[in-house]
Amino acid sequence: MTIKRRTLLKHSAVVLTLGLPQIACGASIFTVRVWPAPEYTRVTIESDGALKTKQTIVANPPRLAVDIEGITLNPALKELLAKVRPDDPNIAGIRVGQFSANVVRLVIDLKHAIKPQVFALTPVAAYQHRFVLDLYPTQEQDPLEALIAEKNQELTAQDPLEALIAKHLQPSSVSHPDSTSKIPAKKEALAKAGASIETKPEPPALKGTERLIIVALDAGHGGEDPGAIGPGGTREKDVVLKLAHMLRERINATSIKGNAMRAYLTRDGDFFVPLHMRVQKARRVQADLFISLHADAFFTPQPQGASVFALSQGGASSSAARWMAAKENKADLIGGLNVKAKDATVQRALLDMSTTAQINDSLKLGKNLLGEIGRVGKLHKPKVEQAGFAVLKAPDIPSVLVEAAFISNPTEEEKLNSEEYQTQLADAIMRGIVGYFAKNPPLARQRTTS
Ligand SMILES: [Zn+2]
Repeated sequence: MTIKRRTLLKHSAVVLTLGLPQIACGASIFTVRVWPAPEYTRVTIESDGALKTKQTIVANPPRLAVDIEGITLNPALKELLAKVRPDDPNIAGIRVGQFSANVVRLVIDLKHAIKPQVFALTPVAAYQHRFVLDLYPTQEQDPLEALIAEKNQELTAQDPLEALIAKHLQPSSVSHPDSTSKIPAKKEALAKAGASIETKPEPPALKGTERLIIVALDAGHGGEDPGAIGPGGTREKDVVLKLAHMLRERINATSIKGNAMRAYLTRDGDFFVPLHMRVQKARRVQADLFISLHADAFFTPQPQGASVFALSQGGASSSAARWMAAKENKADLIGGLNVKAKDATVQRALLDMSTTAQINDSLKLGKNLLGEIGRVGKLHKPKVEQAGFAVLKAPDIPSVLVEAAFISNPTEEEKLNSEEYQTQLADAIMRGIVGYFAKNPPLARQRTTS
């Protein structure tokens, strides 16, 4: 696929040079993509050369103007207008026009105030130069409060009066995703929700529930980063999101010794989330477990079976594990991380403090998962492997990475797409989680952060 695309690009470059020599002096844009999500909407403009740009934010009505120098308006840019979905959480529309002889102006009309991150990415994998506009809402929802409000709403759904009360418990606070010092205390948030519930004579199902047990489900890749692609065209980012949704259903329907379980997805859609942000997101909701879902790929179609990985403090447990970690850690490069964002650098540095306790718990969790997955499918390795996966670096949350199967193996690709195997796999992982909690009750676990 990559080769085809490169050949194609080479051909079109020749055509451009021969037919339109005036464009040869600047970059030419050949594709634009829009990735909408509640967290942020990304607009990517891909070109065969670096773009010179200038942007201005206008407050009222909120919009972002971007001038791109050295290009002329072409069909790819005009297509951008059609790519904005009416339900995009952040963008209301995009206008594009030839501002002056060699400047194209994009005006992005916004649905609310935005703090944009604008950056360029040099060619990597199948991509050429990318100019990226990440549009983050200035006000965002607190994910932990959202989980609690959602739970309360579900409990009271049958009683119209309770539903009304739950509605008033909807989160409204502004939070700060990149500040660990502002992690909301789960107990405090629960107390808040509990206190409001107590105003009712009978707080039905929350009674006896001391806290939610939160499992962070991390569907690998997303957005610009498709992950591995199977011989039949199945994209890793899609199958793992499906699996995360199936697991969420199971988790949300389960409770452990009277404590309701709740799944929290680090991404609930097709958009890119940097690896350190996945960890941060799980820490913000004070997750009890972190499970990153992936599907392996190799250069040859033979390898098969599931594997489970934990973090290692020293070296990798095998060269295959080291290779796998290096491969998964590349997600940020392909997905497109703004390395210049100060917060990102600080947060990534903070996460380089893995703990023995976290790794021991992760190994136990991994063992449970392997045992259950091995009952429904093949295992690639019978033991939990260890390597330096960036996404497993929450110092206080047992974290594993599950490679559900080899998407590069045609038989396993087919299985990953079958409803039957997806169900078996989700059930197996769920049994693994419950089995882990049976032996390691979440309430007994000491938290290393407050
Ligand atoms: Zn992956």
